[in-house]
Amino acid sequence: MSILDEKIEKAKTITILGHMNADGDCIGSELGVYNYILNKYNDKKVKVYVLHPSQRFKYLNGFDKISEATNDAEPYDLAITVDVPTLERIEKELHSYLLTAKDVLVIDHHETNNLNYKDMITNKDAAATCEILYKLMDKDYIDKKVAECLYTGLATDTGVFRYSCTTPETLVIASELMKKGIDFTNILDEAIFLNNMNQRKAQAIAFENAKFLCKGKVIFSYVPKDDLDTLGLNKNDIDNIVVYLRETYNIKVAVFGYSIGHDIYKLSLRSNGDEYNVAEFALRHSGGGHIRAAGCTIKGKINDVIKIINDDMNEFFHFDK
Ligand code: 5GP
Ligand code: MN
Repeated sequence: MSILDEKIEKAKTITILGHMNADGDCIGSELGVYNYILNKYNDKKVKVYVLHPSQRFKYLNGFDKISEATNDAEPYDLAITVDVPTLERIEKELHSYLLTAKDVLVIDHHETNNLNYKDMITNKDAAATCEILYKLMDKDYIDKKVAECLYTGLATDTGVFRYSCTTPETLVIASELMKKGIDFTNILDEAIFLNNMNQRKAQAIAFENAKFLCKGKVIFSYVPKDDLDTLGLNKNDIDNIVVYLRETYNIKVAVFGYSIGHDIYKLSLRSNGDEYNVAEFALRHSGGGHIRAAGCTIKGKINDVIKIINDDMNEFFHFDK
């Protein structure tokens, strides 16, 4: 029996927690565990907390059962964190669920995981947290609903099986999940490819604003807050822009800036090679992530932020040599 089953079996009440701005791997992991518990242990009380979940993932079973934070919950017997590298990446409103839980199980694949609990399944070589979960789960209880969740995480964190984190094992697991009868073309459209017209307009603005920094090795762009407000978009709606920026000839690193307040920008970083470790770069700015996909926050007006990125990346990646 895996540690996941051991922990679940011992607990009567369980909460599942992920990181802020939950992406496909995070929500897929959370709802994957949720559906697995419903299938195998239907006497457990289980709750998934996600603040402002992206509507992209509403096709996943259990999405409509996701809870916002409430203060009335008793301490849980078990908190399972999935895809969470640091406490700061959990929304403040949800901290108490983790801090008061009688037992904790951490399951993650981030390079920069610095959580400190007795029971941690962290594997930085896993393409997605969903991949680790698949291996921990009793295969008899992975039905179509669980498979849809886990496939969502595998597909989103691997950029549909094309990033270098994809391994032969990732594809074997995807194949096993396909055998459960999932509608994978629809999952890929819903989770990744479909955009509404206002998202397309924001993408157009981002390409208009795109700049090359560091002698053309870095592409940077952003969408001004006013434009996002006019288009009625939030962070979830534009998190694919950095992916498009990376798909540009000759660049090594792509950076997308998203205004999260007055003169403060959240940066999404993507790299085109393991020698450009953006997680290490992000750590310099109190962020983190993976070698080729990371994030951090920089304060300042947009032109200051651009200058900081240009100067720091030149120094860190030796682009000016
Ligand atoms: P994204 O650019 O899609 O928001 O994030 C890319 C990756 O970096 C994800 O794995 C995400 O969890 C991680 N990440 C983004 N921002 C931060 C941050 O501020 N701190 C840490 N530790 N990880 C981050
Ligand atoms: Mn992940």
